[in-house]
Amino acid sequence: AAVLDNKVAFIQGGSRGIGAAIAKRLAKNGAAVAFSYVSSPEKAAQVVKHIEAAGGRALAIQADSADAGQIKAAIAKTVSTFGRLDILVNNAGVLAIAPLAEFSLEDFDRTLAINVRSVFIASQEAARHMGDGGRIINIGSTNAERMPFAGGGPYAMSKSALVGLTRGLARDLGPRGITINNVQPGPVDTDMNPANSEFATSLKAMMPIGRYGTDEEIAGFVAYLASPEAAYITGASLTIDGGFAA
Ligand code: NDP
Repeated sequence: AAVLDNKVAFIQGGSRGIGAAIAKRLAKNGAAVAFSYVSSPEKAAQVVKHIEAAGGRALAIQADSADAGQIKAAIAKTVSTFGRLDILVNNAGVLAIAPLAEFSLEDFDRTLAINVRSVFIASQEAARHMGDGGRIINIGSTNAERMPFAGGGPYAMSKSALVGLTRGLARDLGPRGITINNVQPGPVDTDMNPANSEFATSLKAMMPIGRYGTDEEIAGFVAYLASPEAAYITGASLTIDGGFAA
């Protein structure tokens, strides 16, 4: 038997990058996995195909995390399809970088809507369906702890907001046997942050482990937090960043 047999997971943003790796990993561990996407239907379909080819159950749902109604509908679809909900992973996120003088209010609002507001909405909605053993895992960033370049203030703020939200919601959820934690990756090689850029070279120079992380490394940590073994961890923000914030 696999560790997440009979569990159902919903991931906000699972078509690419870290979210896709989390979807595959939770499915490998036995969970039925639903995930949302917005602009990458083909990539979403590939993730479903990958999971089904390995004998798992998966469902891709088009739902914009900037829209509360679409988030709630996606969670309802997950529950109606797979019959329950045990694990929520709030992975969808956007990174807008611009000099302060040029940073648009649209980018500021969108950063907060997707990186913070969607986490609250999905957590509130998912918790209605969860029982003892439920798990909420947010994907924050090591930039909540250290922001060593200009132009990323709103992004760092959005990820710092998750630190407080995670602590506070742990108080609401703990008495019901539900944990909530915030995983803070360092640089991970994805479309958002390719490991072969000039920017990447400057980031690597700041890190004790002088390389980018892989999406599988983040997924493995998330899978641990989703497991029954991690029941005593809640309200925590946990960096997995090659020492970026050290
Ligand atoms: P990518 O840009 O590579 O992938 C983002 C994923 O989120 C895609 O599946 C995308 O779907 C989905 N997504 C984006 N916007 C929305 C939305 N409005 N509604 C629903 N889904 C959405 O990002 P990463 O994999 O790199 O990042 C994932 C998370 O990890 C983010 O929260 C990010 O801030 C965080 N992080 C990343 C780091 C890195 O170095 N890569 C470091 C630290 C944290 P679609 O393709 O359909 O648009």
